[in-house]
Amino acid sequence: MPLPREHLVDWLRDAHAMEQHAERLLQGKAKRVEQYPKLARRLERHLEQTREQQQVLEACLERLGASPSTVKDLVGRFSATAQTLSTMTTADETVKSGIALYTFAQLEVAAYTSLFAAAYQAGDIQVQQACERMLGQEEAMAQWLRDTLPELTQAFLQRDALADRKAVADIPASVQAPPER
Ligand code: MG
Repeated sequence: MPLPREHLVDWLRDAHAMEQHAERLLQGKAKRVEQYPKLARRLERHLEQTREQQQVLEACLERLGASPSTVKDLVGRFSATAQTLSTMTTADETVKSGIALYTFAQLEVAAYTSLFAAAYQAGDIQVQQACERMLGQEEAMAQWLRDTLPELTQAFLQRDALADRKAVADIPASVQAPPER
């Protein structure tokens, strides 16, 4: 039976794979939400944190005499979620992105909550501390997205209504109203 420490190494590798997906997801989204600068800025900030988290996890693994698995080995574990989250291209994409990013942030909260408990069980204080810090970053991201989702939705609806009015205004008058008899 694997020891708590072996599970810890496995789950650290999973977390590293998760952060690689997070990086791709955030990179993809950050480019496509330019019309919402507040969201774009927050995504850029979290992208930096995500890259730092990868380094922290690599350092934890190295200290335990292990290395991150290749992306190829682990890509399947999170790919279904990440693919669904990153391929949406609909008119309300920004709103959908906000929901997807919130979902992924919560996945990360759950992962670090579990990893923290595993580190505690294995008596690894350094991993515990690292998880606590990363958990804080993910909770802050999830909370920010949750707080911002109503605003993001309203902003989208306003833009959409304006575009709609503009579309109507662009239609020639002869098409807008039937000629009087
Ligand atoms: Mg992360």
